[in-house]
Amino acid sequence: MSVIPDLSSLHAMGAAQQPFYPDRGAVDAAVARLRTVPPLVFAGECDELKEKIAAVARGEAFLLQGGDCAETFAGVTADNVRNKLRVLLQMAVVLTYAASVPVVKVGRLAGQYAKPRSSDLETREGVTLPAYRGDAVNGFAFTPESRIPDPQRLVDVYNSSAATLNLVRAFVTGGYADLRQVHSWNTDFVKESSVGQRYEALAEEIERALTFMQAIGADPDEFHRVDFHSCHEALILEYEHALTRIDSRTEEPYDVSGHFVWIGERTRQLDGAHVELLSRIRNPIGVKLGPTTTPDDALALAAKLNPANEPGRLTFITRFGAGRIRDGLPHLVEKVAASGIEVAWVCDPMHGNTFEASSGYKTRRFDDVIEEVQGFFDVHRAIGTWPGGVHVELTGDDVTECVGGGEDLLEMDLGHRYESVCDPRLNRVQSLELSFLVAEMLRKA
Ligand code: PEP
Ligand code: MN
Repeated sequence: MSVIPDLSSLHAMGAAQQPFYPDRGAVDAAVARLRTVPPLVFAGECDELKEKIAAVARGEAFLLQGGDCAETFAGVTADNVRNKLRVLLQMAVVLTYAASVPVVKVGRLAGQYAKPRSSDLETREGVTLPAYRGDAVNGFAFTPESRIPDPQRLVDVYNSSAATLNLVRAFVTGGYADLRQVHSWNTDFVKESSVGQRYEALAEEIERALTFMQAIGADPDEFHRVDFHSCHEALILEYEHALTRIDSRTEEPYDVSGHFVWIGERTRQLDGAHVELLSRIRNPIGVKLGPTTTPDDALALAAKLNPANEPGRLTFITRFGAGRIRDGLPHLVEKVAASGIEVAWVCDPMHGNTFEASSGYKTRRFDDVIEEVQGFFDVHRAIGTWPGGVHVELTGDDVTECVGGGEDLLEMDLGHRYESVCDPRLNRVQSLELSFLVAEMLRKA
C-alpha cells in the first residue's frame, strides 16, 4: 500500500510554484475544512479512465483533453459550462466518426484554477505586485489587496468544482449527450461558418446511421450517454493533499479532486514535492514535457511515477512548439519506446506556441497549433508509435484570443473579445476546425 507523506514533509522536499500565504492559521483552517469534504470523483471512476488511457497507450483509442487555461469562479455559469462541454462533444463526434477511432473525453475543468507563472511579480505602469496565480490563489484585479494569496480560495475551488461537475454529470447522463442531439448542438452555429456547415453534413450522416441502426433493432446505451472525465494540473499542495483519500475498496490513495491530474512543465523536478505526491496516488496521471526534456529525464520520471509499468497510469504530454517538435521529439520517443515503457503520448500544441502580439495580448497562431499536431503525428508515424491524443486550451464561446483559422482572426481583432485570465484559447470555430484537421491526420495514421 502506498503511503502519503504529510503536508509539511512534502513542502520540505521543495515545491516549486507555491503561493506564499501570510496567514498560516488561515491555511490550516482551509486545509482542515477540505479534509472533511466529500470526494469530487470516485476512485472507481479514476480506474475506469485508467483503463481507457491504457487503450490509448496501445494505439486503440484517442484522447481528447480540453478546456480553459484557467477556470475562474465567475465563469461557473450554466451557459459557460454547457458551451465548453458542447464544443468538446462536437469535437469528439467529429474525431470518432471521421476517423473511426474511440475517443476518450476529458475536460480541463472542475479544478483547473491554479497557474504556474514564469515570474513571481507583475509590473504595470511602474507598479509591481505579486503575479496572479489563478483564482485558487489570488484575485486577477491588479490591486495590492486582491493579489494577496488567500487560502479560503481553496475551499472556493472545491465548491466551484463541485458545482461544475454536478452540471457536467447531469448533461452527460441526462439526455444532452445523446447522439440524437448531434444536430441540436449545432443549431445556433450552422449558418454562421463554413466549419458549422461541414459539421452539419457530418451530423446528417450520423443521423442516417443511427436511424439505420434503430431500424435493425440496435439501440445500445452508448448512443444515449457519454463517458466524460475531469482533469487539472495538480499544483497547490494544500488542495491536492487534502483531497487525497484512501479508497475503501483497494485501501490505496487516490486524489479525488479530479479523475486525471498532471504535473506541469515547471514542477516536474524528479526529487520535488509534486512528483513525490503524484507517485503515491493511484489516479491516471500526466506529465508535461517541454523542449528541454532529455530522454533520461523522461525515463527517470517514468521509473518514479510508474514503477510497475502499469498501462494507462502515465501520459506524457509533449509541448515543444511548432518549430521544435520535429527535431526535439524523436529522440525522446525513440528512447522511451526502446525501454518498453507503457505510456500514452499526447500533444499539447498550445504552450510551445505562445507569443505577444504588438497590441500586447498574449496569443497563438492557429497554424502553429496545427503544425505542431502535424509534427507530432509525423514523428510518431515515422517511429511506429501511436499519436495518442491532443491536449488543448479552448472555450465554447466566440472569443478572440488566438489568431488565424478559417475566420482568419487578425492581431488587431484580439481586443474585441479577449476574456482569458491566462493563456489564449481556441474559440468554438477554431476548436471544431482543429478536430476536422486532426481527424484527417488520424485517418492517415
Ligand atoms: C498549462 O497547461 O496551462 C500550463 C501552464 O502548461 P505547462 O506546464 O506545459 O507550461
Ligand atoms: Mn495555459
